[in-house]
Amino acid sequence: MKRSVFAVALNHVSQIAVWDDAFHQAPYQTPPKTPVWFIKPRNTHRAHGDVIGLPQGLTTFNGATLAVVLSKTARKVMPENAADYIAGYALANELSLAEESFYRPAIQAKCRDGFCPIGDIAALADADALEIITEINGVEQQRWSTADLQRNAAQLIVALSDFATLQAGDVILLGTPQERIAVNVGDTVTIRAAGLPSLTNRFSGDAALVEQPQGYPTLFALGLNYADHATELDFKAPEQPLVFIKAPNTLTGNDAVTVRPDNIEYMHYEAELVVVIGKTARDVSREQALDYVEGYTVCNDYAVRDYLENYYRPNLRVKSRDTLTPLLETIVPRARVPDVQNLDLKTFVNGELRQSGNTRDMVFDVAFLVSWLSQFMTLQPGDMIATGTPKGLSDVQPGDEVVVEVEGVGRLTNRIVSEQQFEESLK
Ligand code: CA
Repeated sequence: MKRSVFAVALNHVSQIAVWDDAFHQAPYQTPPKTPVWFIKPRNTHRAHGDVIGLPQGLTTFNGATLAVVLSKTARKVMPENAADYIAGYALANELSLAEESFYRPAIQAKCRDGFCPIGDIAALADADALEIITEINGVEQQRWSTADLQRNAAQLIVALSDFATLQAGDVILLGTPQERIAVNVGDTVTIRAAGLPSLTNRFSGDAALVEQPQGYPTLFALGLNYADHATELDFKAPEQPLVFIKAPNTLTGNDAVTVRPDNIEYMHYEAELVVVIGKTARDVSREQALDYVEGYTVCNDYAVRDYLENYYRPNLRVKSRDTLTPLLETIVPRARVPDVQNLDLKTFVNGELRQSGNTRDMVFDVAFLVSWLSQFMTLQPGDMIATGTPKGLSDVQPGDEVVVEVEGVGRLTNRIVSEQQFEESLK
């Protein structure tokens, strides 16, 4: 089943309470104002009854939660209509390693293979005061109520659909309490709630490759992967890849339009080389990593800087809005790109060269990125890695034509429109 699984962090009152002091200090300064979204990509998806392999040498924590499942396409849903978009609910397990920071994306903690089993769907009369019970090996270990969530399912649908169009079958995980229980090899975990099919999974130490689920290809994106760009933003280059995931709603094609939201100060383009995975990659070495690459393409990874908050930077509101990621559909085979680490990237706005760089200046090169990701999650054919952008960012306005190109790979054209122009184009 193809579906996007969105999840929200810090949505339980116990989490806010524990983190409040830290959130008034650096690097956060203020508590989050909007939901802190993240994505559980397809390699994490599992079903009731599946055996889940635990990573060795790391503690995995259970995350019993409620999933709301969308019934139809949802875009800019109003609060009074939110219930119409709910197909039903399911129990889910938002498995995670320890969360020690909300400052950076946490894909190493949250996006490992099998880290998101979801049970069967059912209708619920009242999802707003549901007791969710976790049993480990038949003994109750945790019980919490959805009454203690900061935002309920309807409020989350409204908030997410404001900038991301959701599809029938898409899922939102509603959050977890601060307290999490460790799961160990050999444990059987059952999550129960009145009125819903229970969710049972056994945990194994066998990391053997399981059949990977169908689903939307995962689109990874790199933050601060060109040293000159990191300096431009006043950051040090990161010590390990800063990778986040974008949902498929954000993608659009060549010669398409991208919406600049009203009442913002700064929205910028980002010319990027995109790596397309060609065969299943798990725990591959840097030396062999390029063998798993099908080829390359180009994207423009726009960002709305105004929406940046110091949480899970960059949040989906900044980076995964509808139309914000034009992507060239043509994939240039790897064999036709002799040296992927020596390609010029350029961005032209209305014909004027604004951004210029070369893939030799990547902090983490393509082979490293494929290998690094494959150490903790299985990459599948069609998965893509947008490898970051060099310096030279500037604001774009409705009416601007933006062209990004990567030498020998492709040229992608796109036009900026206002919200009003876009709404009229949909009529
Ligand atoms: Ca980027």
